[in-house]
Amino acid sequence: EVNFPRAVSSVEQAAVEVSDPKLHKAWVYRAYGAAKDVLQLEEIGVPEIAADQVLVKVRAASLNPVDFKRRLGKFKASDSQLPHVPGYDVAGVVVKVGSQVSGLKEGDEVYGDISEFALENPKQWGSIAQYTAVEEKLLAVKPKNLSFAEAASLPLAILTAQEGLDRTSFMEGQSILVLGGAGGVGTLVIQLAKQVYGASLVAATASTGKLDFVKSLGADIVIDYTKQNFEELPEKYDVVYDTVGEGPKNVKPVKQGGSVVALTGAVTPPAFRFVVTSNGASLAKLNPFLESGKVRPILDPKGPFSFSQVVEAFSYLETGRALGKIVIAPI
Ligand code: NDP
Repeated sequence: EVNFPRAVSSVEQAAVEVSDPKLHKAWVYRAYGAAKDVLQLEEIGVPEIAADQVLVKVRAASLNPVDFKRRLGKFKASDSQLPHVPGYDVAGVVVKVGSQVSGLKEGDEVYGDISEFALENPKQWGSIAQYTAVEEKLLAVKPKNLSFAEAASLPLAILTAQEGLDRTSFMEGQSILVLGGAGGVGTLVIQLAKQVYGASLVAATASTGKLDFVKSLGADIVIDYTKQNFEELPEKYDVVYDTVGEGPKNVKPVKQGGSVVALTGAVTPPAFRFVVTSNGASLAKLNPFLESGKVRPILDPKGPFSFSQVVEAFSYLETGRALGKIVIAPI
């Protein structure tokens, strides 16, 4: 029987070959700065695992704005020490378990956001690497119907979408306006609000070319922000979920007594901001909705980017124009 290997380009091959099994390939930065200036593919030691951690053979990772903001030194005061391997989101296979790990075993296919607190001492050795060490409690079993690339696109963004909706006490029958409906978080807020929380009405902003796509995610009303100012429209909503940073305008469309959550930018009462907490159990709660196809991962059509194209992938993310998530795969 002939065993056909998967076709791998020579660039990809060079990106993954290592000279010593204690070493792995990882993207590393040793100083804060622009991706093209500071990010390098290096051969470094495979991370050690603590008793409550597992070692994950990374199959796919995704990028989040926090990765580049952190790399630019915006969170220096509470950051882990340099050098860093960037990357919060991972999907991969458990290859080793710590002595206190009870719910996962070698061979399990998992996904998660590997840093419990996004800004407080996030992982020094992130997910844009061949291996990463993760606390068992931050991981969930990968939904079987999703590829590693699809699963890797979800954790930080979907946990943010979920935590923001929970913090506004969003309930069945309520209405919501999502500012930034086409982004990594916005595409998931729309879907969760509609499919998981039972929103009566979902409105979302996007630029002209993305309106149809945002509608296909379940938005009932789309507002082209290049043509209309959302804050001047007459409709009022129970919740405004701002992923763009539109404060103080983001409080204009909320009903009296409603909630406004702003992930970034100025915070004017009644708006509030929070920083996502990663948690495998919260992710696992969403697995049935992912497995039934009610909620689907949205991968930017320009990707996935290969493991050798991480600098290009960051440059694209940093344009602020991505549709859904930017994924690095295969790793
Ligand atoms: P993305 O990079 O995925 O967002 C890009 C999208 O934003 C594009 O599709 C773009 O669409 C859209 N967009 C840009 N400007 C506007 C605008 N004025 N109105 C409507 N849409 C717009 O980012 P994420 O969704 O991953 O993150 C969003 C923000 O939230 C970031 O600042 C991130 O750091 C922050 N964040 C904070 C978290 C927290 O815990 N506090 C957690 C996660 C994210 P178009 O091309 O049509 O403009």
